[in-house]
Amino acid sequence: MTDGAGAFVISGPTAVGKGTVVTALKAKYPNIRVSVSVTTRPPRPGEVDGVHYWFVDDAEFDELIARDGLLEWATVHGTHRYGTPRRGVMDSLAAGHPTILEIDLQGARQVRRSLPEAYQIFLAPPSWDELVRRLRGRGTESEAQMNTRLRTAREELAAAAEFDIVVRNITVEQTISELVDLLGL
Ligand code: 5GP
Repeated sequence: MTDGAGAFVISGPTAVGKGTVVTALKAKYPNIRVSVSVTTRPPRPGEVDGVHYWFVDDAEFDELIARDGLLEWATVHGTHRYGTPRRGVMDSLAAGHPTILEIDLQGARQVRRSLPEAYQIFLAPPSWDELVRRLRGRGTESEAQMNTRLRTAREELAAAAEFDIVVRNITVEQTISELVDLLGL
């Protein structure tokens, strides 16, 4: 349990349901802010610039790194780069909003240095089989991309103990109620 106005890292393997849980939490608690990451990945159908991500090219991403504009960044699944804009997070915290960073394991590790006061939550799947089922069900990745993501997921699951707490995402409702407690909402 925290005082409710800090920074929270939510990490966990691909397709564990981070997006669903964070969207539901935000709908219920409009005071929450979710950091919008920058990425060099092209938008998926339906993704909106400035809402789901800030979509940038490699040169723009390089420039953000050069002027220390990112709290963390990483190459995820061996392909595209993703990063957390420093300014958005700092402004949100200064305005007193509980602020969520939904980022991968490499990013979470960097945030332990760049924003050590952030409370780090690891979202775990009910089981390995269920994670595979969810990833296949999403249907947005090719077979090769899926295998890369599953390999990364195995490594990420092995790092759960580095986090302040592990929340097992069995049902969205149960997970939300645990997060509400943890975030002190
Ligand atoms: P996707 O391409 O499916 O939207 O995201 C792929 C992965 O990138 C997810 O595991 C997500 O947590 C991670 N990710 C999204 N934004 C960031 C970020 O700003 N920094 C880091 N390190 N990872 C991110």
